[in-house]
Amino acid sequence: MAKQKQEPKKGRAKGSKAHELEYLIIHCTATPEGREVSEADVRRWHTAPKPKGRGWKQVGYTAMFHLDGSMTTLVKHNDDNIVDTWERTNGALGMNHKSRHIVYVGGCDENMKAKDTRTDKQKKALEEYVKSYTNIHPNWKIAGHYHFASKACPSFNVEEWLEEIGIDERNIYRK
Ligand SMILES: [Zn+2]
Repeated sequence: MAKQKQEPKKGRAKGSKAHELEYLIIHCTATPEGREVSEADVRRWHTAPKPKGRGWKQVGYTAMFHLDGSMTTLVKHNDDNIVDTWERTNGALGMNHKSRHIVYVGGCDENMKAKDTRTDKQKKALEEYVKSYTNIHPNWKIAGHYHFASKACPSFNVEEWLEEIGIDERNIYRK
């Protein structure tokens, strides 16, 4: 894995200082059902210079969940309640200074229409992640990207799923 730079970055993210961690935001890679996406793919999409990539300094997500339920850490973090500048990822404009972003591989059908394509193993892995980190961050709110942008991402109803897996109401973001 590439070494993370520990320097504060100037860029699109709001503010240049560390901020309290307030949200966990769930995303999909917006790729067709059953197609795997690698760490290298995400790094290229997000950080390659335009027009090949988005030209960002950092990827959009802290962790990604593969079809088999395994997890790749894209950006390291510690477990305190502060989003240090070196922990910041570019998942949702205006939210990055106070959020952690995670992503599952999939989210579209073969015609690139939004679809909840999570495998049972992805659901299980996401559930474990959400529960264990909510124990560490008992005050954060868990949301979908669609709460903060006019997008279908992550292609499932996050509030309903959180209820289903027994997440406390105070941790469920409702717009
Ligand atoms: Zn998203």
